[in-house]
Amino acid sequence: MIDFNNTQIAFSGKSNNDLLRASLLFSTIASPIIVTIGNFFASIAIKLHIPINWFAKPTLYKQFVGGETIEECVPIVRQLEKYNVKAILDYSVEGGESDSYMEGVLQETLRTVDLAASDPNVPIAVFKPTAFAPGYVLEKASSGLAMNAMEQISIDNFRRRIGILCEHAYKLSVPIMIDAEDVHFQPIIDEVTMQMMEKYNHEKTIVFNTYQMYRTDRLDVLKKDHARAVEKNFFLGAKFVRGAYMERERRHAAKMGYPSPIHPDKRSTDKAYNDALTFSVEHLDKISIFNGTHNEESCHHLMKLMDKHKVAKDDPRIWTSQLYGMSDHISFNMAHGGYNVVKYMPYGPVKSVLPYLVRRAEENTSIAGQTGRELKLIKMERKRRKAKSNS
Ligand SMILES: Cc1cc2nc3c(=O)[nH]c(=O)nc-3n(C[C@H](O)[C@H](O)[C@H](O)COP(=O)(O)OP(=O)(O)OC[C@H]3O[C@@H](n4cnc5c(N)ncnc54)[C@H](O)[C@@H]3O)c2cc1C
Repeated sequence: MIDFNNTQIAFSGKSNNDLLRASLLFSTIASPIIVTIGNFFASIAIKLHIPINWFAKPTLYKQFVGGETIEECVPIVRQLEKYNVKAILDYSVEGGESDSYMEGVLQETLRTVDLAASDPNVPIAVFKPTAFAPGYVLEKASSGLAMNAMEQISIDNFRRRIGILCEHAYKLSVPIMIDAEDVHFQPIIDEVTMQMMEKYNHEKTIVFNTYQMYRTDRLDVLKKDHARAVEKNFFLGAKFVRGAYMERERRHAAKMGYPSPIHPDKRSTDKAYNDALTFSVEHLDKISIFNGTHNEESCHHLMKLMDKHKVAKDDPRIWTSQLYGMSDHISFNMAHGGYNVVKYMPYGPVKSVLPYLVRRAEENTSIAGQTGRELKLIKMERKRRKAKSNS
């Protein structure tokens, strides 16, 4: 079994300076107070148009983002390639709602599909569906309420943009993943994504939906989607994540007076996640798996399942992925062991990727436990290198 504590492999691509910088950053964001205050000032700076690049770019941005443009990310893609780690470029701008903004995101995302078609170290493309329609329209369409003419145009454009992307991906034979976000937007996203799978996943898996396994209903949805794939004879693309918006979902449910859609505790989320992996490996003839997690136990679970079912480590139907800047001990050790590993690499202008950076900072406070692990491993590797250079 892969040893995730092998820090020599985990940080083989990092210089001593990289490790020092990462160590300082993770030590700083380990403090929930610093993260809360930092987020507060960042949101004010954005509202008042105060430049924050000078602060964000050499710190959080450098750790978690590939660059401002595709071209800026390419050297990092080449660097990862040396270690058998691939990359997915994720144009991570968030928050725009004008038509021109959405068309701009569409054009940029098409470029990422082109890159994936031409660069063997970029095997998959991805996009956030919420970039293609205003949130309130997605919510209305998801709840089945009647829409006015403008809203109907917005939803038609949403379908059109996703259709263009999936068709382009299909023509270039590039798998494309559709991210998941808030629960109340998801029904319309699921509906369109399943239509795309039915249309383009006949020969192989092109379109992937995202299953947030912190949701109580997702295991059943996965099984229903699988039944539909069997019935209609297409391949199901399943990207699994636990889910990034737990607090927001719980708050929203409480405010609106409906039961929380999120599992009551971490243990049940973990179980649902691993059960989804088990179900999918057992139905690998129809399901392609994208294991998007920093959880070591889930990665071990997947590797054990692959071993049990005699699935090759580099079977093209199974990918494991971590976010760029996080959990290299999983990515690099699994890639070194021969598994298909891909880093999810966001890119975009500093200001536009700020919501993404805020989520990463929050996820990495000591409360979440992630930083403790990142920091511990970085310290271990620095110590190991020092001992080696002294011997
Ligand atoms: C490659 C990749 C792609 C991603 N894409 C998306 C995406 O499209 N949409 C999205 O929402 N997220 C996405 N994420 C983020 C992901 O959902 C998680 O927030 C993040 O990865 C942390 O979960 P984990 O599996 O790594 O493991 P862990 O750190 O073991 O789990 C943390 C997660 O467990 C769940 N959890 C924690 N406490 C509780 C509790 N008390 N009760 C119930 N559940 C709990 C939450 O989901 C929390 O984020 C992505 C992550 C990766 C690595």
